[in-house]
Amino acid sequence: MTLAIQGGRVLRPDMTVARADVLVEDGRIEAIEEGIDADQTLDAEGSLVMPGLVNPHCHVPMSLLRSNADDMQLGPWLREAIWPVEAELTAEDVRSGSELGLVEMIKNGITTFADMYFFVPEVARAVDDAGMRGLLGYGIITEGKDDEESREEVREGIEFAREYDGFADGRVRTAVMPHSLTTVEPWALEETAEAADEMGVPLHFHANETRNEVDPIVEERGKRPLEWAEELGMLDGESFVAHGVHCDETEIELLAETDTGVGHCPASNMKLNSGIAPVQDMLDAGVDVGVATDGPASNNDLDQFDELRDAAMIGKLGADDPTAVSAASAVEMATWRAADVLGMDVGRLEEGAPADLAVVDFEKPHLTPQHDLVSLLAYAVRGGDVRHTVCDGTVLMANREVLTLDEDRVRREATERAQDLLERAE
Ligand SMILES: [Zn+2]
Repeated sequence: MTLAIQGGRVLRPDMTVARADVLVEDGRIEAIEEGIDADQTLDAEGSLVMPGLVNPHCHVPMSLLRSNADDMQLGPWLREAIWPVEAELTAEDVRSGSELGLVEMIKNGITTFADMYFFVPEVARAVDDAGMRGLLGYGIITEGKDDEESREEVREGIEFAREYDGFADGRVRTAVMPHSLTTVEPWALEETAEAADEMGVPLHFHANETRNEVDPIVEERGKRPLEWAEELGMLDGESFVAHGVHCDETEIELLAETDTGVGHCPASNMKLNSGIAPVQDMLDAGVDVGVATDGPASNNDLDQFDELRDAAMIGKLGADDPTAVSAASAVEMATWRAADVLGMDVGRLEEGAPADLAVVDFEKPHLTPQHDLVSLLAYAVRGGDVRHTVCDGTVLMANREVLTLDEDRVRREATERAQDLLERAE
């Protein structure tokens, strides 16, 4: 079975655009040239075929908590509004919240995401059904837990990473995910880093998100959080952190030297007033940076086009320089740069690459005229402009209709479950 995406323009990894059709066979991009036909076709007239977007940091089941608690600081938001409700979550809730988030991501052209949560096998099964790719991990937290419970957390995080790597025909990869440098005890940080290293999977954790997180580490240990993380063995070529808002020059250098990637979450950072990440400085230093949505409760949507525009905008504010975080940089950070953060072979539209694609419809008033398609991608396109989504050679959405999950059912179930959940938590 071959698939041809016909009549559009294509976005190459070097951010140039050319008129071409795309031929997909056995999950790979077989050819990019004009005049291709195949068993199955998707119309891309007036559209741009680009790599499926890559979202390097999310907590997708939190879609059930969307719009439940806003306008709070990170600490109280987590401890008072989020964790008490999450304590009531069941496996079925996580499945339902995942499906909701995955439908939303598919509709916004996202084909790969990294996710940290619990009841993660449910997330993995939802990814399998949705036809997407996920780099999944169990969010290990030892804060507020006794010794035995903490050991159990670490065991579960490592066990999931071992058992589910390669699930869903290889579309699910895993990572060991200690939640953060302040919510996980040092012995557990060290143990998880060692385990990830042994298994050859990435280590992923939140780092330097807010000043309230950074200051106590600096006071107690006399060094920056990422310097301490390196001592614990947590930074290496396969590791990636979320946020990295409050990184000083030494830490940026350390990220570059150790080849540690960053999932930059501009909307979440603005909403929780966490600060502005030094993204242009990181890019200049050679750090792999990807643009991520973070969880849907702190964003509050999973539209990565919104996110890459935010990255470009806030990047300029942060650098006090309108030339910082250019349109091309922002688009790269949602495609191949984000894939490099995850160490996954996606995010590039080229012959031989996995056939993960988003087809964006440019026949819209807000996308007219078309002097520069990359500029439009960064500053004007919205998730709702995505017309077709393809992952691993399978059509997940055609003409805005999601084919792998039943959108109406998913929305209905999520609405009911979210209602029940909040009632239980009260
Ligand atoms: Zn997060």
